[in-house]
Amino acid sequence: MFNMLEKNKMDNLIDEDEMKGVKYPLVEDFYTIQGEGAHSGRPAYFIRTAGCDVNCWWCDVKESWDEEKHSKKSVADIVQGAKDSGAKFAVITGGEPLLHDLGPLTYQLKQAGMDVHIETSGSSPVSGYLDWITLSPKRFKEPTDDIFRYVDELKVVVLTNKDLEWAEKNAAKCPDSTQLLLQPEWEKEGAVELIIDYVKSNPEWGISLQTHKFMGVE
Ligand code: SF4
Repeated sequence: MFNMLEKNKMDNLIDEDEMKGVKYPLVEDFYTIQGEGAHSGRPAYFIRTAGCDVNCWWCDVKESWDEEKHSKKSVADIVQGAKDSGAKFAVITGGEPLLHDLGPLTYQLKQAGMDVHIETSGSSPVSGYLDWITLSPKRFKEPTDDIFRYVDELKVVVLTNKDLEWAEKNAAKCPDSTQLLLQPEWEKEGAVELIIDYVKSNPEWGISLQTHKFMGVE
């Protein structure tokens, strides 16, 4: 959990009306099923911000990278969509959502009574009011040290043995309470078998699967 109040950033907080008018470049926002990680299988409102400077070669949302190619949507409109959906929680993902100051959006989602989750590479400074932080660290642009103490879930995408070393390096920086998950890269042959063997020998880790791909939902 991360709360901007802890960081004493309230000084810069704008008033409610201004907050609702703040716009974010958005790839899409939609009601779906959280397919991955600790909250897999739960209905959630997904908010996919545009813009990413991490450049993973295996990224499956490359269309999100250039924020100039996406239109902007106001906090008021995003939050209305989330409220109308009936979802209990919102998942802010990307792209890399922490490229944007998430204060206004997350504050208003909280005001609407929703829990706010984020999926991030942690490569930019953390911001906002966040109930659940999933850190998915990428070697292409490493997480900032700041985020580690707030991480609820560490989810590392695995293609080869090198990613297992990367997973352990990041796990060492997380609190003891962090859920540790390894997720096979969908199209990498052998990744599932590699993870199964690893988790059996290192039971502090669990496996995350991209179940939305099995279910055929976005
Ligand atoms: S951090 Fe995420 S959105 Fe950015 S390139 Fe990597 S996988 Fe794609």
